[in-house]
Amino acid sequence: MPAPSPRTLPFAFAEAAAPAEGWPRPRGFARPALLERPLDELPGVGVQVRRRLAKLGLATVRDALELRPRRYETAAAERRLCDLRADEEAVVSGTIRSATARRRGRLLLITAWVSDGTGEIAATWFNQPWLADRLLPGTKVRLRGRSSRFGFNVESYDIGDDSSATADFAPVYPASEDTPSKTVRRVVEAALAHAGDAPDPLPPHLLAAQGLPRRADALHALHQPRSAAEAEQGRGRLAFEELLVLQVGLARRRRERAGEEALPLGQPGELLERYRAALPFALTPSQESAIAELDLDLARPAPMQRLLQGDVGSGKTVVALYALLRAVEAGHQGALMAPTETLAEQHFLTLDQHCRDLGVPAVLLTSSLPAREHATARARIASGEARIAVGTHALIQREVQFASLAVAVVDEQHRFGVEQRKALSEGRSPHVLHMTATPIPRTLALTVYGDLAVSEIAKPPATRKPIVTAWVTADRSSEAYQRLRRHLEEGRQAYVVCPLIETSETSLARAAEEEAERLRADELRGLQVGCLHGRLRPAERRDLMARFKARELDVLVATTVIEVGVDVPNATIMIVQEADRFGLAQLHQLRGRVGRGAEQSYCLLVSRPLDALTDTAQARLEALVRTTDGFELAEVDLELRGGGALLGTRQSGVTDLRFTRLRDDRALLERARALADAADAQLALAGDDPFDPLAEAVERAFRGQEDPGA
Ligand code: ADP
Ligand code: MG
Repeated sequence: MPAPSPRTLPFAFAEAAAPAEGWPRPRGFARPALLERPLDELPGVGVQVRRRLAKLGLATVRDALELRPRRYETAAAERRLCDLRADEEAVVSGTIRSATARRRGRLLLITAWVSDGTGEIAATWFNQPWLADRLLPGTKVRLRGRSSRFGFNVESYDIGDDSSATADFAPVYPASEDTPSKTVRRVVEAALAHAGDAPDPLPPHLLAAQGLPRRADALHALHQPRSAAEAEQGRGRLAFEELLVLQVGLARRRRERAGEEALPLGQPGELLERYRAALPFALTPSQESAIAELDLDLARPAPMQRLLQGDVGSGKTVVALYALLRAVEAGHQGALMAPTETLAEQHFLTLDQHCRDLGVPAVLLTSSLPAREHATARARIASGEARIAVGTHALIQREVQFASLAVAVVDEQHRFGVEQRKALSEGRSPHVLHMTATPIPRTLALTVYGDLAVSEIAKPPATRKPIVTAWVTADRSSEAYQRLRRHLEEGRQAYVVCPLIETSETSLARAAEEEAERLRADELRGLQVGCLHGRLRPAERRDLMARFKARELDVLVATTVIEVGVDVPNATIMIVQEADRFGLAQLHQLRGRVGRGAEQSYCLLVSRPLDALTDTAQARLEALVRTTDGFELAEVDLELRGGGALLGTRQSGVTDLRFTRLRDDRALLERARALADAADAQLALAGDDPFDPLAEAVERAFRGQEDPGA
């Protein structure tokens, strides 16, 4: 065997495959941009459909191609109508004799009499009004479903000679009220014609060595499988690709950081001693070990890159401030960056109290500061007089020149790359502590944050009583409000979270205002009720929060803007309206706004009536009642969603793994991880050619994440 050339060396399997097929690869014929075209450029897709698909998050041809079917139809027998057995899933064909539509409460029921010469069935559909016009007498139909005492319950159907929806292993896509799975299927089919338009991110020799199909074939297998095994093969290949892309991206980050230098901060001294002494509580063992880990990092001349994971209320902020004070004590500066202004203000309120006691000048920098104050704040940071700065990611990264930034704390998984770190401090990189309140199991954390070291605050302070959570349906919501009033009479405060129905921040804000108005007149009559939403001007918001903290307000009616960061220990009860509409992680975050003091706290989840709830919505609510452990809930979420989108937070970025099932795909992950460093080294050797298909895929996956816009 010839000695491997430098180009192929890093791949162990390259010896088995043809060594000539390394990077760089031929290119120039296939243009990835083709996949970024809007969907209405596909034949048969109009502007109307495009708009509706956009609501499902589908904008481009690529989006349609990469849409994972929620499930596939199973193999079912084709039956003559006379042979149909009760409760058996079957496929039948016949002709419509007549059809009727009627309402039963909130249900719209369509019944069609279908015969095939051997027998007749009453086929029923629920809540699909658009069908009424299409089920005309004489129309041929193919139906898949289950017959019961009440008729044939249709699960999927084809009208005319089509059989794409009722075929065995037909994909079932996520749908919405105005965009049925059928429409999505049609669009995906049209998109499939372009499956080969963009180059495969995985080079041919890698496919050969790993025994994987080409991307275009995998997409066909995903959307039009002939068997369950074929669908799984397609999915597995796409999962491998996204895991490899993720791991290569993380490897690239590690590589970019390899040469970076940071200021070593030595050991903690007198200031940190005073900080500890001033805390009204002893640090928990979890907090102590996180601190020990970051002390080690800070003593090194290379920048810390650590993730601090901990459930809401577990006490991360105390650790974050510790890190900032380490910078201050060493004669440098610290910065705390939050994703929103509300959060930045919240953090500042907490932090500034400590800083005043310790005699450490801190500034809050927000876009709402009057121009003059804004300039003053910036000048104080630039001169080094302000030792700690708090602001949004965007603001701090774009507008601030630090005298000497040594530690940056980044709240909520916002990542930043080399460029942003350079912008922060000239020459040297700051030590960075990332904080997230959306815990995931440690093994997964290593996957998703493979470029970071992970510290975990596993246990909340022992003084904390777990939040008692109850779930009631809307017909009992008045009881929930009675309970809330009792708490208020005892001097406590409360949150009411508005339903998550509106799509835009503006309409959400309006709905929240209306709801607050309604509550003031009704359930919360006589109480001081404030309303917090994303459309308030920053000064109004600050004022509102200050009044709530000062107990001038009894209740805060809010949108999900309170999800993170709001810290008012006297608020001990929360009502979440239409809780079934929220995701599990989101409800957990919301609930974390109470239970922050020593008092027993309560969270009342009010859902819509049982018959309006999906199974997974019920499972989510049950899980929240059962446990307050964020790690356990993360596992449940993972199970319920079955996919990799487990973090469910806006900033999660990379964690949008579409095809990976993190629990089952450990082996794929290991393979991807084993190859990633080598693949990244290859890309580096090729001069980081941005047009390399793999590099391009990495770029796409990591894009946006490093955008400081917030
Ligand atoms: P997180 O940022 O993880 O959501 P915080 O740091 O805001 O949590 O802490 C939540 C509350 O718990 C705060 O009011 C804080 O003062 C308090 N707290 C933090 N650490 C401890 C501790 N070791 N013992 C008691 N209370 C603590
Ligand atoms: Mg916090």
